[in-house]
Amino acid sequence: MEMPATPATVLVVDDAPSNLAILTETLRGEFDVRIATSGAEALRLVDAAPPDLILLDILMPDMDGYEVCRRLKTDYATRNIPVIFLTAKNEVADETQGLSLGAVDYITKPVTVPIVQARVRAHVELKRRGDLLENLSMRDGLTGIANRRRFDECLERAWRHGMRCATPLSVIMADIDDFKAYNDAYGHMAGDVCLKNVARALAGVLRRPGDLAARFGGEEFAMVLEDTSLSGARHLAEAMRLTVRALDMAHAGSRAAPIVTVSLGVASVVPVGGLSPDALLRSADRMLYQAKQAGRDRVVADCLPLAC
Ligand code: GH3
Ligand code: MG
Ligand code: MG
Repeated sequence: MEMPATPATVLVVDDAPSNLAILTETLRGEFDVRIATSGAEALRLVDAAPPDLILLDILMPDMDGYEVCRRLKTDYATRNIPVIFLTAKNEVADETQGLSLGAVDYITKPVTVPIVQARVRAHVELKRRGDLLENLSMRDGLTGIANRRRFDECLERAWRHGMRCATPLSVIMADIDDFKAYNDAYGHMAGDVCLKNVARALAGVLRRPGDLAARFGGEEFAMVLEDTSLSGARHLAEAMRLTVRALDMAHAGSRAAPIVTVSLGVASVVPVGGLSPDALLRSADRMLYQAKQAGRDRVVADCLPLAC
């Protein structure tokens, strides 16, 4: 398995400057070391740029290491960052508590330099393998964009976000027009190239961190747009339609145009209990169907009753 060439980042959290100095000295030849002198500062740094591993002191004023770990493990964005407690607390009960909070390891002070190095190295390696596997399992093999599994997860998360914040959530479904005829005319290999180009074009239109473009099935794509109203989503869908047209890929067998085009269905809702992400998807799918019926190479948008 190929490992990334950039050094892993390790965040060291300790309120004692002497400890920070020793640990930084120990790790900096091999890792990109960041430091924090309090729990609050650690959480801020993690939020700004998640490290690959955290070495966490337990006894600190204000917020102790246990609390920092608890918060990291309950947040979806940070729960996979391995935490190693590094502490003078050497009772069995302390270590048990640390590990039960989700820490991967527990090292007692005074530290032995080679032991810290070896354990950090081992856990960084595991973390990077985990990241790589997660990445592979969430990506579509042909086009490189998100796959259906990632889409479903993202939609669920965006749905909960929309419920919490009472903001609209939109979905776009896009489908290549007369793609069967494209394969028949140009061959399956050319069809695959077309899918890659269309995927890149669609994904390229999205800019916000809460947006996701995924391959939903064969020649179908789906987009999740967090905090986006129906009119915002309709604009993006129209931009996607034009971007695909601008690829200018010949498609002699299409009923819509002499080039490759997509039809898009857009649906929007402010998520509430009693509705489900599935209802939103079905609505976008119905809009897509209408776009096909109306002649293809177009956008049809509608919102679920509660969002209007
Ligand atoms: P419409 O405009 O109504 O969407 O017509 P269509 O021909 O695009 O729709 P249909 O669902 O009949 O055909 C979809 C085609 O997409 C059939 C299938 O061979 C092709 N397809 C699905 N997945 C792949 C793929 O991974 N590679 C290639 N080359 N073709 C694929
Ligand atoms: Mg301390
Ligand atoms: Mg199609």
